[in-house]
Amino acid sequence: IASLSHAKVAVEVVPETGSTNADLLARAPTLTEPVLLVAGHQSAGRGRAGRSWLSSPEGSLTFSLAWKFDGGPQQLTGLPLAIGVALGDALAQLGVQVQLKWPNDVLKDGDKLAGILIETQGAPGGGTWAVIGIGLNLIMPDELEARLGRSAAGAPWLARMERDVLLAALLDALADSLRLFAAQGFGAFCARWNLRHAWQGQVVTIIDNGQVLHEGLAAGVDDTGRLLLDTAEGRIAVLAGDVSLRVK
Ligand code: ATP
Repeated sequence: IASLSHAKVAVEVVPETGSTNADLLARAPTLTEPVLLVAGHQSAGRGRAGRSWLSSPEGSLTFSLAWKFDGGPQQLTGLPLAIGVALGDALAQLGVQVQLKWPNDVLKDGDKLAGILIETQGAPGGGTWAVIGIGLNLIMPDELEARLGRSAAGAPWLARMERDVLLAALLDALADSLRLFAAQGFGAFCARWNLRHAWQGQVVTIIDNGQVLHEGLAAGVDDTGRLLLDTAEGRIAVLAGDVSLRVK
């Protein structure tokens, strides 16, 4: 992977681990350079708020990238969306068209193809380590869909590629986008996010802990990554926090 990529990132590959995000977060205090950790299989993958990310040894790509930013974690609120844009553009170049679901999912034909989980940790001596975890379904076995209890997307076209070539392409796209995000923030990604918005103009609900907080027409995101919603009371901007989005 390292020799195929232009990004200056240390690459580590392990056959199996619980969660690549957990592993890199634990190591964040001692990291001195960006690290890409790729797991052949991830047995305890994480989503937001304690949810889990399921994967199969043969059909999933699971990896995390630790990247250091100057400044505090509050500057990284738009980062999951920027990573969605990076992934969306990289997948499109590889022949797979995807849409983005606010705040952190990548959909193909309406089903989830990839998840993004970003966790942060203060860096000793200043700055913040962002651990960017990505789970991408290549083949989605029936057994995994049954465990999920809903349909999910796979990308068999990508499953036929050499894994290293695929990972190098994704790593290069991510590294470029992380540098752009550090220099310009989410504003540099906002228009591209909106071009891939899965539910633009559709009626959606914002759910917090099973309760519907808002309902309205999804109108894209602003340049800080908030979802704009046209409700009966007018336009509101929703912060990601831990709310979930459903299309009606
Ligand atoms: P939701 O998709 O329910 O709105 P979310 O986007 O907030 O929630 P995350 O925490 O980002 O969810 O991801 C975890 C969720 O993704 C799980 O609760 C499960 O529904 C779904 N999921 C887990 N593994 C996979 C997978 N391999 N493919 C597709 N979806 C998955």
